[in-house]
Amino acid sequence: MFTLRLASGREARVQAGHPWIYRSEIARVEDEGEPGAIAHVLDSRERFLGQAMVNLRSQIAGRLLSRGEEPVDGPFFERRIRQTVARCGRSVQGPDACRLIFGEADHLPGLIVDRYAGLLVIQILTAGMERVREIILGALRATIQPRAIYERNDVSSRRLEGLELRKGFAWGDGETGVWVQEGDLSFFVEVAEGQKTGFFLDQRDNRRVVKGLAAGRDVLDCFCYSGGFALSAAAGGAASVIGIDLSAGAIAWAERSAERNGLSPRCTFTIANAFDALRACDREGRRFSMVILDPPAFTKGKEAVAGALRGYKEINLRAMKLLTPGGILVTCSCSYHVDAPMFLKMLREAAADAHREFQFREFRTQAPDHPILLAAKETQYLKCAILEALN
Ligand code: SAH
Repeated sequence: MFTLRLASGREARVQAGHPWIYRSEIARVEDEGEPGAIAHVLDSRERFLGQAMVNLRSQIAGRLLSRGEEPVDGPFFERRIRQTVARCGRSVQGPDACRLIFGEADHLPGLIVDRYAGLLVIQILTAGMERVREIILGALRATIQPRAIYERNDVSSRRLEGLELRKGFAWGDGETGVWVQEGDLSFFVEVAEGQKTGFFLDQRDNRRVVKGLAAGRDVLDCFCYSGGFALSAAAGGAASVIGIDLSAGAIAWAERSAERNGLSPRCTFTIANAFDALRACDREGRRFSMVILDPPAFTKGKEAVAGALRGYKEINLRAMKLLTPGGILVTCSCSYHVDAPMFLKMLREAAADAHREFQFREFRTQAPDHPILLAAKETQYLKCAILEALN
């Protein structure tokens, strides 16, 4: 039987509930299976720890699926999927647009499933999940009864697992552009061409907070993508909203959603580099009473953290300078490697350089359909600080 034995002294993290086994933590491999095959994981004294999907060519060589010895087969995955979608806030009849499965944090490592009305979008990120792709598709159809399932397996990290990149309908067919409802707003989501699986579901609750703070404000939403924050602010009664993004597609979707919600008269969307736009606003002496910054991850690795922090500091410093007294800065980072303490330190330095004082209203994270595994800090990646300018 395919078995991994962990090295002595390297078992504590896995024992404490973390799902990953690094290659360097393995002392011995027996009867090695194909990439992605299921192995029994033992501690250094040969005690059973669980069953993992194993790919020895990846740094993260094992991802724990189960702490028990039950067979990992079709009924196993169907049970897991049923349990996951039944967890709080996840009901299949629930919100139109939500994440149903968030990989490791839902004990389904390497699998992402998002729901956009009747359309499911899946991402399979590991060789282990790729091996059971058909089982997963069958289990999703049985439990959720979607209209179609689209796969966005065009994620570059698949290469680290020896997997090809592809996208397209995995089951069923039809339109790839769908309208979804979030609160009282309709958003257009393009699942084939959009970023991630089409929409930034992780910011849902932060958009709601922005909506509650926006009344009467002049809002600048930098890195606005398809208008999530911008339209939420407009729906919350903002006096004017400017959304900026580099992607022409995203801006077109934002305009489409603004129109559909009757918010176009107060919203302007522009294709531009947000770094340049922030600089230009300062030069022209423009001021805003709310600025939102939700840039893409500036680093995907530990080595580039210093450069990422310089990028964050530049946009935050500029945004702070554009705020009127009493203005609100909503500033986010989805770079896992820039953790909360680093992000807050950067904000303090930016505020000092901008000669502005702020009250820290809230420190927020990803929406609860992107659950955080207490034992695995890697599952928490989103930071969203809400600051109010005192001067
Ligand atoms: N706030 C959005 C998500 C933003 S994702 C929401 O809630 O839906 C980050 C966005 O930044 C992407 O849309 C990407 O196109 C955009 N982007 C990346 N670099 C940029 C730059 N230099 N200037 C402006 N937009 C940029």
